Amino acid sequence: MRQTHKFVIAALLAVGSAGAQQTPAKNVIFFLGDGAGISSLNAASIYGYGRPQALYLQRMPNLALADSSTAKEWVTDAAAAVTAIATGVKTRNGVVSQTATAVRDVRDGDNLKTIMEYAEERGLSTGIIANDDRTGVTIAAVAAFYAHHNNRQRSAEIFQQILNPKFGKGPDVVIGTGLKWISAESTKLGHNLDTEIPAKGYAYVHSLNEVKQLDPDKDRLIALFDDGDFDLNTAVEQAVTRLSRNPKGYFLVVFSDCHLGKAGKSLARIVELDKTVQAAAELHQKDTLVLMTADHSYDLRIKGESLVETAKGATSAQIASVISLEDQHTAEEVPVLAVGPCSNRARGFISNTDIFHIMMGALGWESYRQQARYPVSGDGGWDYITVDSEARRLYVSHETQVNVLDADTGKPIGVIADTPGVHGTAIASAQRHGFTSNGKEDKVSIFDLADLRLIRKVDVGKGPDGIYFDAASNRVFTNNHGSHDVSAIDAFTGEVVGTVKLDGDGEQAIAAANGLIYVNSENTSEVVAFDPKTLQVKSRFPVGVAKTPTGLAYDARSNRLFIACRNPPKMVVMDAANGKVAASLPIGTGADAAAYDADSKTIFVSNADGVLNLFRQKSADEYEALGPVMTQPSAKTMAFDTKTKRVYLPAADVDVIPAANASERPQRKIRPGSFAVLVLRPAQNPAPKL
Ligand SMILES: [Zn+2]
Repeated sequence: MRQTHKFVIAALLAVGSAGAQQTPAKNVIFFLGDGAGISSLNAASIYGYGRPQALYLQRMPNLALADSSTAKEWVTDAAAAVTAIATGVKTRNGVVSQTATAVRDVRDGDNLKTIMEYAEERGLSTGIIANDDRTGVTIAAVAAFYAHHNNRQRSAEIFQQILNPKFGKGPDVVIGTGLKWISAESTKLGHNLDTEIPAKGYAYVHSLNEVKQLDPDKDRLIALFDDGDFDLNTAVEQAVTRLSRNPKGYFLVVFSDCHLGKAGKSLARIVELDKTVQAAAELHQKDTLVLMTADHSYDLRIKGESLVETAKGATSAQIASVISLEDQHTAEEVPVLAVGPCSNRARGFISNTDIFHIMMGALGWESYRQQARYPVSGDGGWDYITVDSEARRLYVSHETQVNVLDADTGKPIGVIADTPGVHGTAIASAQRHGFTSNGKEDKVSIFDLADLRLIRKVDVGKGPDGIYFDAASNRVFTNNHGSHDVSAIDAFTGEVVGTVKLDGDGEQAIAAANGLIYVNSENTSEVVAFDPKTLQVKSRFPVGVAKTPTGLAYDARSNRLFIACRNPPKMVVMDAANGKVAASLPIGTGADAAAYDADSKTIFVSNADGVLNLFRQKSADEYEALGPVMTQPSAKTMAFDTKTKRVYLPAADVDVIPAANASERPQRKIRPGSFAVLVLRPAQNPAPKL
């Protein structure tokens, strides 16, 4: 399996009491204060109320601190920050809900479905409110919920995605600023909003008063105007009145610009936003997750060089005069404040992508959830994990040994020792033999499945990595990364019976309905099919749309291969008969394993960035993303248990020590005692009443 050189941030998984069954939220109101970091909240409280911690926000029952870094930068902009929150995937600055493969204003990445679009697909009503002075409702911090673009500044094209959404049906209620700007930009592209908006079934009005006067049955409306100082609370209540008529619930995004370059106005905006959050929480928290966060913090703070002016009796003008405001985004964590159903998942230091999972989880939409964590002793590296579904055992490769655990309890059963550089384990139940690929000694250990004792070692090609058993030929195969070939071993006698000239470094492999074995070749970016009996290569299919294929899964009914690729990160669907690529969908970074559940027609891809992607097969060539599920950074490999439908993922807290100079790689270190197998089970919470 491929070594991970990706920069993986170690993060403690803040699961909290997520395992406990809670009634899911019917609705979500998501508030975003532009730039409303900790120091801004502190200053706003002193500015507005003459004392610290006087805001409702500062009394909310659940608080987390979210890292806001992007896929490429430590300091985020609003586009990358809210893409992470809305999609659960980090991208690069300037890009709106597309993958980090986008190049700003040059090339699209893959579109990432947002939680608002999931909500629309599930029949909920959706809305947005924004008071940004210039770009209004097309500001990146809001657009990232409904639009997909490689450049946050393309306001007209972004606005068009309200009317012509890539997923879902577009927001139902849009209230906010940007009338002049969006109209002018749209005209430049030949659009006429005065006719296009009503043609899409929206009432189109130009003040909050007109919104109030609209028939309450009018559930699709766009109110665009230019005064950013409209009453935010009234706008929220107008939106909720209409959205809440939908018995399935709603998802509402409320954006307030608290990042204005002028301290007094920014702080007044926070005080107003605070009152709006309080009102919404008091009215709706019974069935609504109310969550507030910031896209980024910036350098607005009360500084104490001039101790006289910061005296407690200072006037608000004096306070405003000692506020230091350097209009630069900063890298520190932003607060995440929450109340309502499942809000207690907002705790600890988290990633901004976790906000997506908190909201998905609160709505009951995470299809898998963590059930247990099996600790495994020892601090060595790991690679593949194998589940023996019948025998209820897990085989966890672990540097110089394989830890064998009870799949249902995590209880250690034993150890297969002396397997230097082990990558994986293959199980031949009928022969009662197990096989490990010992990458550092070019050997395979053959052990007795009953007592885990070594029977003998056999020499294979150089650098054996992935290892798998083919029941039809009764053979075990190792993908040798040093010699770029595949060794075939008779599973009963343990003799090496030949070599497949793969001319590539094999990754995951599957046995297809035609009797051939298909294996990903990561360095040549192909899927190679060989005959397990004659050991002849029968076909080589280039993946084409992506490089570095690692994980591979297969559906025999449709004869489709599911290929997890790293560069760019995509799950590619290929016809096994002819190598034709039928579809490709974005996945997390550092994918290393894939699986297919024929019963639920679900494809799983595990990624080193701490995300498990799930896709539903709608037909042989049609696939849709289910919400990605949070695992843990480093959980790149997995095993799918066909019997219980559980997914097992080995993971540890991995620190990345920055290199002393640019020519060196950062050093990766596993924190002692942190290695474990995460156990995810299908979420039984029957929340989505569709
Ligand atoms: Zn900002």
